[in-house]
Amino acid sequence: MIGQRPAFPGGIKLAMPPRVDADTVVRQMPFAPLLRLPLKQHAGAAPVAVVRAGDEVLRGQLLARAEADTAVPLHAPASGRVLGIGKQSDGAGGTVGVIELAPLPGDTQEPTRGRAFDPDRDDADELLAAIRETGIVGLGGQGEPTHLRLARARQRGTRFLVINGIEGEPGFARVPALLARHGADVLIGARCLGKVLGLRQPVLALEEPDAAAARAMLAESSDRTLPILEVLPPRYPQGAAELLLRTLAGRGIEGCPAFSADQAVVFSLATVAEIGRLLRHGLTMTDQLITLAGDGLREAGNYRVPLGTPVGFALAQAGALAELDRVLVGGPMRGRALGSLDRPMVKGATGFVALAGNQQARLPEAMACIRCGDCVAACPLQLHPAEMGLLARRGEVQAMVDHWHLERCFECGCCAYVCPSHIPLVQMFASAKGQWRRAQASAAEGAA
Ligand code: SF4
Ligand code: SF4
Repeated sequence: MIGQRPAFPGGIKLAMPPRVDADTVVRQMPFAPLLRLPLKQHAGAAPVAVVRAGDEVLRGQLLARAEADTAVPLHAPASGRVLGIGKQSDGAGGTVGVIELAPLPGDTQEPTRGRAFDPDRDDADELLAAIRETGIVGLGGQGEPTHLRLARARQRGTRFLVINGIEGEPGFARVPALLARHGADVLIGARCLGKVLGLRQPVLALEEPDAAAARAMLAESSDRTLPILEVLPPRYPQGAAELLLRTLAGRGIEGCPAFSADQAVVFSLATVAEIGRLLRHGLTMTDQLITLAGDGLREAGNYRVPLGTPVGFALAQAGALAELDRVLVGGPMRGRALGSLDRPMVKGATGFVALAGNQQARLPEAMACIRCGDCVAACPLQLHPAEMGLLARRGEVQAMVDHWHLERCFECGCCAYVCPSHIPLVQMFASAKGQWRRAQASAAEGAA
């Protein structure tokens, strides 16, 4: 039951690398000599530290307690000694507390385990509370506390659960690794979420290159509530939750005729797998699966990285070349340049791209807009990147918001990708959004 017309305009067909066996490999990252753990690693309130300098902690032990509803707890990614609680910039003009932890050399680093949970035995409230206690947040890049997203979905009577198995960026390979290595975790995680939401059968959406791996994962289970598999032709950025729901609703889903985008909630495959892994083994969140990619790495691939690991240390373990041009947080389409290699890995990171050599110097020079309209045709939200680009050059940020809905731009990069004049539209929009938010914040402060 496949519709012929795409459910959203624009988008582009990116050259995603073909799937290879190496994509399913996950290497364990060793512990860095010092792990730095910002107390706030998610959208919401920071948890409150319960350890002090000099304390010895076990891997998985509570470091910071969630007091506010929007907070999630933070756990020790390694057995070690707390060196202190410092401060670092929160990137928005403020500071955030940071626990510094030195892993104990020679320790077995066996994680502490609490009670294991089972969706067949434990009730919905117990599972929801257990999910919060693991400290998990959305692992698809959004960083929203998972317990909050679930509680809100339950409150509004969500009827459909969608597991988003679409790789967010070209060159990233978390999806094949999760399907091949964490199939049981995915299925348990899906049942836990289903139980919390009172739903039986989720929809697992992914793109054609990962369909075989998903079918193999489902074939290994005799569970009668297995996810309904929905395989989509590749099209960037249909993995964005809003666009994915529109696509699914537009196509129709066999076995789920009443599917409606307005009554659905989306969780990333990485989040679902991690919920299953943590709950079934009684673990807390201490590390995460990320992709380290780019031509600046000799051993690019998937790694399980302890939280708090400095990005520079992780890249060195992946064989970073001595001369790197830039490191992007996120992938080549949506990533942003990393300010410092000392920045720690935080919950919700999906991957990093290390670019070799002096690529900045080889970038084609931006030229004047020739009004070709390619960027407008490529925008999946039907914004007007060309007009916004002209206003951005003149510094007319408020006009970008008032007339062209700048705030809706989610920086997917389609417009810049197709622009024949090589205008850095996404950087211009990101910078304009930053200026606009700061202006809004100071206006709110002035009115208070
Ligand atoms: S970056 Fe923004 S303006 Fe450009 S295509 Fe994506 S959503 Fe549209
Ligand atoms: S794609 Fe580039 S050159 Fe064409 S209209 Fe958009 S900004 Fe102008």
